[in-house]
Amino acid sequence: MHEPAAFTETVAKLEYDTGRRLSGPYRLACLRAFEQNERGFRACVDAALRRGRENKVGLLVRMVRDGDWNVAPPPPAPAPAPAPAPVNQSGCTHEACAGLAECRYE
Ligand SMILES: [Zn+2]
Repeated sequence: MHEPAAFTETVAKLEYDTGRRLSGPYRLACLRAFEQNERGFRACVDAALRRGRENKVGLLVRMVRDGDWNVAPPPPAPAPAPAPAPVNQSGCTHEACAGLAECRYE
């Protein structure tokens, strides 16, 4: 079974910390979760590392089974504030006056 290195590295942290292998169908379930939502899966691994006591691998497996990885992506960053209207040399903001020393409408 081909595993992306990023997946192997992510679960290796947990395996090392726990001293257990993530294996068999559990590993496959985790890989599926990773493939579908890498960010969500990583969040589960981090949570397992933080919260797990004896068996962090078991905690991860439970979170993956419960679909905890299937989280929505973060909301898009707010749009940047609109740039202030350019002020022309004439002091107005008419586009047609750009570069003119005087406003053509005043
Ligand atoms: Zn103007």
